[in-house]
Amino acid sequence: MSDRLSMQDPRTQYPQPPFPRQPQPAPGIASKMDPVPDHGETSYQGSGKLEGRKALVTGGDSGIGRAAAIAFAREGADVAISYLETEEADAKEVVQLIEAEGRKAVALPGDITDEAWCRELVARTVEQLGGLDILVINAGRQQNREDISKVTSEDFDRTLKTNLYAMHWIAQAAVPHLPAGASVITTASVQAYDPSAILLDYATTKAGIVAYTKALSKQLLKKGIRANVVAPGPFWTALQASGGQPPEKVAKFGAESEYGRPGQPVECAPIYVLLASQDGSFINGEVYGITGGAGVA
Ligand code: NAD
Ligand code: MG
Repeated sequence: MSDRLSMQDPRTQYPQPPFPRQPQPAPGIASKMDPVPDHGETSYQGSGKLEGRKALVTGGDSGIGRAAAIAFAREGADVAISYLETEEADAKEVVQLIEAEGRKAVALPGDITDEAWCRELVARTVEQLGGLDILVINAGRQQNREDISKVTSEDFDRTLKTNLYAMHWIAQAAVPHLPAGASVITTASVQAYDPSAILLDYATTKAGIVAYTKALSKQLLKKGIRANVVAPGPFWTALQASGGQPPEKVAKFGAESEYGRPGQPVECAPIYVLLASQDGSFINGEVYGITGGAGVA
């Protein structure tokens, strides 16, 4: 059994703040973080729950999406990951990890604020994997701005394009390919319910993701397809270190949690696997919080 699964106090299972100051330009690179996040590289154990499935994970190069991609491959799925071109180094590691499981990996670098690319990345996934059974819409933009006056139209536009428009474009392109039994999973946030003052545009999109996914789940179930939302609390990812939070907050990220630490991406993986697999057969239109005690709604 991996140490991750041995019985222990979860508060002290992973690194606690203070962390070194470590600002990066967006999008951040996971391998440059200190400590490097645990995405399950050596700690996630599969048990055949997704044997033969074909998955697409946006933002699968790093953070929560990477943890889902690694877990899906360990559970027996072929996995396509989408990411920005500047994240190639992180993406290469994920491709190697998927291939190390004997599964097929598809790398899809490109900017999802472009509608044509969103449609293209779904088409390439379907073509190269021979179908699509699990769609994880997870890529996101989060840039803190301390005051409403600082949220430019460019900010607002880019956050909404990345977090909301791309979700719609990718889902719309994917739905005709999804068979009965398929699963759609979106990544919202505790920010949908308890928004921070410094995340006006971001929190707005996260509430939108919840509403969109719940509405979509009602349509899709008529075809035997489920759709659910994961709503994480504070997770140790490149998103936070690259402008998601001010650098001084990154240094004590997670300190305010009842755990006194942030979550590690691998701690999200079991929920993505549950929602993706037939184990989640009666779970539809739900929001799964993984917040370390902050709760959702
Ligand atoms: P992350 O930076 O590791 O992942 C986000 C990914 O989004 C990037 O790797 C990047 O590939 C992708 N992305 C961003 N803009 C893109 C664009 N224009 N085109 C293509 N890809 C783009 O950080 P993460 O924290 O794992 O974020 C994953 C999801 O989790 C996001 O939706 C985020 O809002 C959500 N989330 C994170 C936290 C947290 O504390 N880390 C909490 C709640 C929700
Ligand atoms: Mg990344």
